[in-house]
Amino acid sequence: MDYVSTRDKNGRRYTIREAILMGLAPDGGLFVPVAFPEIPEDFTMEKGFAYSASQLLYPYFEGDLEKSELEDICADAFNFPLSMPSNGQKATLELFWGPTCAFKDFGARFLACYLEKHLEKTGEDMTILVATSGDTGGAVASAFHGRKHIEVKVVFPKDRVSERQKQQLTCWDGNISSFEVEGTFDDCQRMVKQAFMDGGYGNLSSANSINIARLLPQMTYYIYSSFLYKARYGKEPVFIIPSGNVGNSTGCCWAKKMGAPISKIVLAVNANRTIPDYIESGEYEPRQSIHTLANAMDVGAPSNMERLMDLYPTWEEFRNELSSYSVNDYNIRLSIKQVYENEKRIICPHTACGEYVRSTYFPDSPTVVVATAHPAKFEHIVEPMLDVRIPIPESLYRLFELDSKYWEISANYKALFD
Ligand SMILES: *Cc1c(COP(=O)(O)O)cnc(C)c1O
Repeated sequence: MDYVSTRDKNGRRYTIREAILMGLAPDGGLFVPVAFPEIPEDFTMEKGFAYSASQLLYPYFEGDLEKSELEDICADAFNFPLSMPSNGQKATLELFWGPTCAFKDFGARFLACYLEKHLEKTGEDMTILVATSGDTGGAVASAFHGRKHIEVKVVFPKDRVSERQKQQLTCWDGNISSFEVEGTFDDCQRMVKQAFMDGGYGNLSSANSINIARLLPQMTYYIYSSFLYKARYGKEPVFIIPSGNVGNSTGCCWAKKMGAPISKIVLAVNANRTIPDYIESGEYEPRQSIHTLANAMDVGAPSNMERLMDLYPTWEEFRNELSSYSVNDYNIRLSIKQVYENEKRIICPHTACGEYVRSTYFPDSPTVVVATAHPAKFEHIVEPMLDVRIPIPESLYRLFELDSKYWEISANYKALFD
């Protein structure tokens, strides 16, 4: 499989390895595969999710990895459960049973395992810089912790992350170091960019969410779960996906393109309305983000939109393939309460956007709402509302027990290398 930049579809072709190591295409576009293969004929779910994922990913890595290598990477990356409980035709795809309890563990762990394997072959070393405002940094730190040939520097803004988020960014030792910056998230991002531009700091790489190695694994759980749903109910479900930078939903669109039994894809967003506004008006207008209860989705200029527009280039196609609804903070709270009252299920504020869209717009359809994070990560919002204690999953609890250590630095990137 070859890869091209979204900004130059007939231009230079790249291998998967080049696309992963470069992250962003040289012209500023995002890497996309030149074609979407059909689901392999020997596709089986009997050997579990990790094995299925390796089968689905193989056409994308052919020529770069042997089948057995990809199987090893998937077994190492997806070493936690994928679960889809359901209540009648209403299913919930729980993507939060990984080490940091959010769906980002899938992509971050896959990238980490891939890079470790690559560096073992070449004997090189690599430093990964990641600026984070919360969830991504924790998933990346956890995924890369203890991996050979790789050092990770996590950069986060002082006083802008929650206590539990900070713990997940700073509880590491060995090859991970964390830096608390006297500044904003934008300062952190700028520092990382400057370090790349300045050069002279060895083999630098980023692990941000536009990397194709984080996208491709997100496609596999949609294929797997849609077949699982069809086997249970004999129907093709609507997938409702809490979305911000739309990386997770791009995975679902690619899954449908490969032939997964999915009837419709719906993007549930918070009060950041860029995508529903585009679907309504035909004018795409990225903007500043606004702060909401579902903060991992506080995005006004979705970074993966370029991949969705590449898939559905005209407004008509985009509208036919996708719908999107905005859910405000009042309705996020309402949904958390209703799901708890009706089903005794505790959900996080992001998942609540999806549940609100289901109960409001698709009450009688076969549906899968994607649960993107465990509610224990957002206990400061959910616990006071429901007056409950949320049990903390063991993997998360283990991180809370570790010592926190980090460097306090000014917003100057040189301090990252002292
Ligand atoms: C990152 C994140 C999202 C948004 O996912 P995108 O791929 O950016 O659309 C939703 N929920 C949670 C909990 C997240 O961490």
